[in-house]
Amino acid sequence: MTGWIDTHCHLDAPEFAADVAEVRERARQRGVVHCVLPAVQVAHFEVTRTLAHQFGDSYALGIHPLYVKDAVDADLARLDAALVEHRDDPRLVAVGEIGLDYFVPELCESPLRERQEFFYLEQLRLARKHQLPVILHVRRSADMLLKGLRAVGNGGYQWQGIAHAFNGSLQQAQAFIDLGFKLGFGGALTYERAQNLRRLAAELPLEAIVLETDAPDMPPHWLYTTAEQRANGQAQGRNEPGELPRIAQVLAELRGVTMDRLQAQTRANVQTVLPRCALA
Ligand SMILES: [Zn+2]
Repeated sequence: MTGWIDTHCHLDAPEFAADVAEVRERARQRGVVHCVLPAVQVAHFEVTRTLAHQFGDSYALGIHPLYVKDAVDADLARLDAALVEHRDDPRLVAVGEIGLDYFVPELCESPLRERQEFFYLEQLRLARKHQLPVILHVRRSADMLLKGLRAVGNGGYQWQGIAHAFNGSLQQAQAFIDLGFKLGFGGALTYERAQNLRRLAAELPLEAIVLETDAPDMPPHWLYTTAEQRANGQAQGRNEPGELPRIAQVLAELRGVTMDRLQAQTRANVQTVLPRCALA
C-alpha cells in the first residue's frame, strides 16, 4: 500500500467542527491515507477516539502542556483508566500529546512551570507502565524533555515515539534519535527564512524523519497571512492534513530525494516508532 501518513493532526479541534469529514476526505484524495490524532485534554479523549475510528485513523491520549492549567490531578487517573479501557484498541498508538512548552511566558513561571513538569513526568510514567510510545510537544524544551525521558526510563527503558514539530539543534535531534525517537517535520520547513530548520531537515538521516501537519496550526507558507493582512480582514489560513503532500514536496526538494523514496521511508519510520499504527 502507498500513501502519506500525517503523524500529527488535531481533527478534534473546533476549527474543524463544521466540516471535519470533508477535510479528511480532501486529504484522502490528495494521498493522505492515514492520520494520527493526538488528544490534548481529557475532555477530548472520546471525540478523538471516535474520529480515529470513523476515518480509519489512529489516536493518542494525553494532556498537552498548554492544557495543564485547566487540568486537575485526577485527570492523570482518568488517562490511566482510559489507557486500560482501550488497551486492546489497535487504533490507540501512543500517549500524547504530552511535553513541555517554554515559549509561552506564563508556563515558564511558577506555578505552571512546575505544574507542566509534573504532568509531563507523570504521563511518561503512564506510557512506560502501559508500554506505549509517546508523542512529544517540544518548544524550547528539548533538553528538559530528554532529561525527563532519561529519569523516568532509569537510563535503560527503550522509549519509542515522535518529537513533534522538532526545531532544535542537531545535537538535540541526535539525543532523541539515540533514545528511540523520530523527529516530526511539517509546515515550518516551508518558510525560506527557516534556514536552521531546513538545514536540519536536509541533513538528518531520512530514517529519523516523520511528516506531520499539526493541523489546524502551523500553516505552511502558502496558507500564512501576515499581521497586516489579518488586520485588513484576511483570515489566517487553516492548515489541513491534505497539505501534507505539498509539505513533503518541499522536503523532498531540500533533500534531493524522490517523493516515492520519501514516502516509503517515512512510512517505514512511522511503523518503527508507532508499531500499533493501523496502517491503511
Ligand atoms: Zn499538536
